[in-house]
Amino acid sequence: MTANPIRPTIPLDAPGKAHGFLRLPYSRNDSAWGSVMIPITVIANGQGPTALLTGANHGDEYEGPIALQQLAWEIEPEEVTGRIILIPYLNSPAFRAGTRVSPIDQVNLNRAFPGKPDGSPSQKIADYICNTLVPMADVVLDYHSGGKTLDFLPFAAAHYLADKTQQEACFAAVRAFGAPYSMMMVEIDAVGMFDTAVEEQGKVFVTTELGGGGTATARSAEIALRGAKNVLRHAGILSGGIELAGGSRMLDMPADDCFHFATCDGLVQSLVDLGDAVTAGQPIARIWPKDRSGVAPEEVRANRDGLLAARHFPGLVQGGDCLAVIAVLV
Ligand SMILES: [Zn+2]
Repeated sequence: MTANPIRPTIPLDAPGKAHGFLRLPYSRNDSAWGSVMIPITVIANGQGPTALLTGANHGDEYEGPIALQQLAWEIEPEEVTGRIILIPYLNSPAFRAGTRVSPIDQVNLNRAFPGKPDGSPSQKIADYICNTLVPMADVVLDYHSGGKTLDFLPFAAAHYLADKTQQEACFAAVRAFGAPYSMMMVEIDAVGMFDTAVEEQGKVFVTTELGGGGTATARSAEIALRGAKNVLRHAGILSGGIELAGGSRMLDMPADDCFHFATCDGLVQSLVDLGDAVTAGQPIARIWPKDRSGVAPEEVRANRDGLLAARHFPGLVQGGDCLAVIAVLV
């Protein structure tokens, strides 16, 4: 098998605190023998578990990058038992472009796992993470938010897994994260996800959706930072007690019918806001035509009872866009 060309510029197993890069060779017109530099911080002390924390798997989601920059700056080795690997901008080219997928190869990193050591730049990143870093880790936290086109209630989430012991360990870490909402979810498109690759290696995995619209708020950034510290404390890696700011409401996304999609292009009018309760059959959005007046809007109705957990963000939708996600309060 071809070896992955990515090399860390710092040792990943040395005690202390080191900041460096994962250097991915990427020769191109404006940089012969050039590289993609992915920032990485490793903080290690003594014997203990390893946590891998990643942000900007999608390049337009900002709570994770902000929280991980803060942790890389703030945490000192004396506070650590074990090892923390922080990668604030996992999909560094997409992060720098402010886009969901990589501008280099148009690959959605979170559909590229387990990756290819001899593939495109995004496939090489996925392969390195999946086959070099994840095997070192006991617990993995991968941050997401809605990006430029979705907005979410702030939640941490675990998936339904065949191994119920692993599922319970994942959900215990989700509860420790302490977001305002904690979610059990099925994915509509799990093949190729980082989540799936980590879970298949038997690790404790936590993902999040903490906001959206292509920005972070003061509140969502604070949730992200507190959640990371809580997960590290829950794993016994970071000193100090878990801080829960109020309770976390339990949500479930048990089936495909939680997802609602636009059936036409148009101007979207939300009829409910994030967190609002809805009942099956209730109109939750209208789509008005973009090109004429005096025509009835397309009406989108709730597939099930629950509350609005996500909504389309920009004011214009295209047919096929994810318009709304309804979760069930447990
Ligand atoms: Zn994402």
